[in-house]
Amino acid sequence: MTTVKLSSRRLSSELLREIEELSGQNLYACYQCGKCSAGCPLAFAADLLPHQIMRLLQFGMVKEVFASQSPWLCVACMTCVTRCPKGVDVAKVMEAIRTIQLREGRGATQVFSPPAEIVAEVPQLATVSAFRKMSL
Ligand code: SF4
Ligand code: SF4
Repeated sequence: MTTVKLSSRRLSSELLREIEELSGQNLYACYQCGKCSAGCPLAFAADLLPHQIMRLLQFGMVKEVFASQSPWLCVACMTCVTRCPKGVDVAKVMEAIRTIQLREGRGATQVFSPPAEIVAEVPQLATVSAFRKMSL
């Protein structure tokens, strides 16, 4: 995967507002209990855990979040959503982070043609989440 860089033309405050608008989430509702990260199936591979992404956003550290591969690893399984005691939809936050980067022509997902035998075995959710990383 390629490293995703934040556009230098845009302010962090502007990007934060856009993340909130696109996700429909109040980023400041998170109180850092860590339940999302404890249940995330991609935590083992993440360079930033879901609760860490939420904290960085709360501090306005959008550049660090956009440099992370974690939103691209997220498979939109919604485990974090079901576990959050504050009702924060972290999956939507992850999707908003990806969407902004895709709109700027930056994306870490590469289109490829997987062998048919792999496609036959891949869970439907994984296929859907992969395509969501390529569309706005
Ligand atoms: S939706 Fe994404 S961030 Fe949330 S638990 Fe699933 S893989 Fe992790
Ligand atoms: S589960 Fe919810 S409140 Fe807890 S750290 Fe994750 S987003 Fe924040």
